[in-house]
Amino acid sequence: MKLLACCLSISIAASAQPHAVLYENARVIIGDGSAPIENGAFVVEAGRFTAVGRKGEVRMPSAAARVDLDGKTVMPAMINVHVHIGYEGYTSWGPEHYTPENVLDHLERDACYGVRATQTVGSSPTDASIRFQQDQQAGKFPPASRFFFMPGMAPPNGGPDAILIKGTTALHAVHEVSTGAEARAAVQSMAARNLKSVKIWVDDRRGTYPKMTPEVYNAVIDEAHKHRMLVHAHAIALADQKAVVRAGADVLVHIVASEKIDDELLALLREKKPYWTPVMGLGDRSEVCDNRPFVDQVLPAQTIAAIRATGCGPSNPNAAMREETLAYNFPRMIAAGARIVLGTDAGIINRYSFGWADHHEIARYVQLGLTPSQAIVAATARPAEVIGIPDLGTLAAGKSADFVVLDANPLDDIRNTRRIAAVYLKGVALDRDALLAKWKTTAAPR
Ligand SMILES: [Zn+2]
Repeated sequence: MKLLACCLSISIAASAQPHAVLYENARVIIGDGSAPIENGAFVVEAGRFTAVGRKGEVRMPSAAARVDLDGKTVMPAMINVHVHIGYEGYTSWGPEHYTPENVLDHLERDACYGVRATQTVGSSPTDASIRFQQDQQAGKFPPASRFFFMPGMAPPNGGPDAILIKGTTALHAVHEVSTGAEARAAVQSMAARNLKSVKIWVDDRRGTYPKMTPEVYNAVIDEAHKHRMLVHAHAIALADQKAVVRAGADVLVHIVASEKIDDELLALLREKKPYWTPVMGLGDRSEVCDNRPFVDQVLPAQTIAAIRATGCGPSNPNAAMREETLAYNFPRMIAAGARIVLGTDAGIINRYSFGWADHHEIARYVQLGLTPSQAIVAATARPAEVIGIPDLGTLAAGKSADFVVLDANPLDDIRNTRRIAAVYLKGVALDRDALLAKWKTTAAPR
């Protein structure tokens, strides 16, 4: 086969014809925290990696196509364990947007930015989600991020924040439970449908919401564990984080941003070692304010204008205090053994949205003390472990060939994850240009 330089063009050709494709000369980041393979090579056959290693050590199958990735870095496609899919319409937001087409659109946005699997948490209607998942698995949709979801549980009129609850209430997406017995019955009904995770909200929204009681969350966690389900627990106050970690929640959601954490929480983290998704970006100044083509490229011009008109003013007076608290809490959470995993809360508001939010979030991890390699693990191998999808998350023989080709090395600067040259799902290059064109029909400059 003739050696071609342009990965995008050859992969489209390759997806149609040759049985195997050898990619070589790239720096290869495995996604498990190991040192990158400089001058690496890997083979993709039938949508899977069949060999990954150093160039020259990877045997090239006969009749394979070759792709030269000289100067590029390859990393596994990312996985996001926490979004709220379906409601965002970019120029408006609400339950009227929640259709399979819009869920797919959000998953395409994620894929375009190098996200291979997306888990929506507690805010999607169960029946529609199961149907969507089945249809996607059956190949009824074009290539997009793989959809995962879990039901949510809260006290009546509690749970999701003031925006999200408008959607979840209209679609009856949250299981409302008041007693331990109701909680157990709800978890049993989820287990009977083969669901693997459940979300709980333990938050009174500064005294404005009913808060889930210990009786209820203890029952949820105990019953879920009997069925080998994971419990994702939303808690933003220090006391609530302690309570849910002590109770055995598997995935702690949010970072405490209004007070400094203490030794009692750290001791609990050392003992329980929960997964932890800090979901910080929703509270950050939006990158839409900063004229970043990487962000603007998927937003309608009127959305960009509206965000800049209302959401980019002088910074929130609490921002400096929040930043100081995050800088204190984040490294201590990590040092105590909280196992960080990528989640964004994308889908609640258009100034922090699908796909680019993932890159914002992992850059935040590095800014607050992780190495780029650790941030990449948090976005690849570890979320695969949390969702329970062992064929995704790392670049290794036998795994699904889901990878991102980058023009620069994210181990040098995590913001280089934004230098996307191509995204491959199951060994096939995603047509990113077509997707980007679709989202720019309202014609803002790229
Ligand atoms: Zn959330």
